[in-house]
Amino acid sequence: MPIPRLANLIDGRQQASLGDRWLDVHEPATGTVFTHCPDSVASDVVAAIEAASRAAAGWASTPLEQRAQCLYRLADLIEASLEAFAALESRDSGKPLSLARRLDIPRAVSNLRYFAAAITGWGSESHAMETGIPGAGAINYTLRQPLGVVGCISPWNLPLYLFTWKIAPALASGNAVVAKPSEVTPCTAALLGELSIEAGFPPGVLNIVHGRGLEVGQAIVEHPAVKAVSFTGSTATGARIASLAAAQFKKLSLEMGGKNPAIVFADADLSDANLDTIVRSGFANQGEICLCGSRLLVQKSIYDSFRQRYLAKVQELRVGDPNDSSSDLGAMVSKVHYDKVLGCIEQARNEGGRILCGGAAITLPGRCAGGWFIAPTVIEGLPSAALTNQQEIFGPVVCLIPFEDEAEALTIANDSRYGLAASLWTQDLSRAHRMAAQLEFGIVWINCWLLRDLRTPFGGVKQSGVGREGGSEALHFFTEPKNICIAYGASSTHP
Ligand code: NAD
Repeated sequence: MPIPRLANLIDGRQQASLGDRWLDVHEPATGTVFTHCPDSVASDVVAAIEAASRAAAGWASTPLEQRAQCLYRLADLIEASLEAFAALESRDSGKPLSLARRLDIPRAVSNLRYFAAAITGWGSESHAMETGIPGAGAINYTLRQPLGVVGCISPWNLPLYLFTWKIAPALASGNAVVAKPSEVTPCTAALLGELSIEAGFPPGVLNIVHGRGLEVGQAIVEHPAVKAVSFTGSTATGARIASLAAAQFKKLSLEMGGKNPAIVFADADLSDANLDTIVRSGFANQGEICLCGSRLLVQKSIYDSFRQRYLAKVQELRVGDPNDSSSDLGAMVSKVHYDKVLGCIEQARNEGGRILCGGAAITLPGRCAGGWFIAPTVIEGLPSAALTNQQEIFGPVVCLIPFEDEAEALTIANDSRYGLAASLWTQDLSRAHRMAAQLEFGIVWINCWLLRDLRTPFGGVKQSGVGREGGSEALHFFTEPKNICIAYGASSTHP
């Protein structure tokens, strides 16, 4: 069933693009178009930025509790429509409905609630200066002020989850936002926009402009009134944004690609539950999570037995209709991405990789016959330097790589231009600590994966990221610190 065309949210009103152009939005599980989103033009972005500029000062001076209340109300409204949001997210992205219900939408609700609570509990620093002279000194305090108008640009893999991860701290800390969800998965952000009016955000405080990256995203990045840009997406786009923003010295937070290692030592507790987590770390969300471990490093002494158990579990994964509760994997997000991932598998074959399972597209019967499904694929026999082990694939593809000892595991794991997340499986906590300190990644999970505490810093190093999100890191990013120094006592005693 088609759903109505999506709308931009500008100045508190839902509206079509001034250019009256539209983009097709596909259902990956069927390969058909099910709605259209605005293919916005630069003048839509300008209208949104002007609305945000008008709203910024009023929002910045709105008491914290009132700002937080808007976020809480939006969270409640999304939670009350959780089923509708989950169905839409699954239809739009191809991910299993059960995953959208369990992970994506609840996490979006948590993002909004977390930053509503965080901003009301946030304090600023102060530093008392002593001069050594009784009765004379100074107090410094840090005033953290919102930046004004900020841009938030998000990708397609965790659409509402990452969209709210950006707009929640931006809004909580008092900025007016111009946000652009991915044009590949715009639906849940559009629905959020509709609910934000009901949640009571003043017009212009939150603006959502749909459309293509080169047109809308770039116009947000280039506009001088936009003081900071928080971006999540590919490293290539991040590099482009960095070069565009550099000339204006804008604040940037860039969360980009990854090629993450999962490292399994012979002494790991490989219970069924832990093995399930290791499998999930490669294939959750069809492998379309920036944190997925696509390089699975296994100590040689257990390599053969591990491979046997691991493959058995991977082969049990069901690829199916996202609406079917027994589906572990759904469809790839777009035809372009589906072709890219199949091309990467072909490249692995050409590089001499052995395909241990999967390795091909899957055609499902019935309603999903035209969908973009790929079998979970495990490959071995490729050195760390192979393109397959260096390039981000972002699909259901994992490469097994044997290693001898700790030193070799570290060398292979760090042999990447990316540095987002690593996971480590060992019962030796001294080793875990030693390795974690030397792994060149922004996040290290030990005996777990994707265990997230929203207070912790989130982000990568090398070409995976610049800056950190999460907790007070995000609030720092979306505010400008100003030091105010108040002296007391005789001014002649100050230098
Ligand atoms: P993408 O870079 O193609 O697009 C991301 C967003 O940027 C989209 O909204 C897009 O329209 C916009 N965009 C594209 N070109 C732009 C430009 N020139 N100026 C401004 N905006 C522009 O990424 P994608 O394909 O949507 O997402 C997949 C990528 O995202 C993968 O590389 C993945 O690793 C990465 N990712 C990273 C994280 C993280 O936290 N590090 C999280 C999720 C996804």
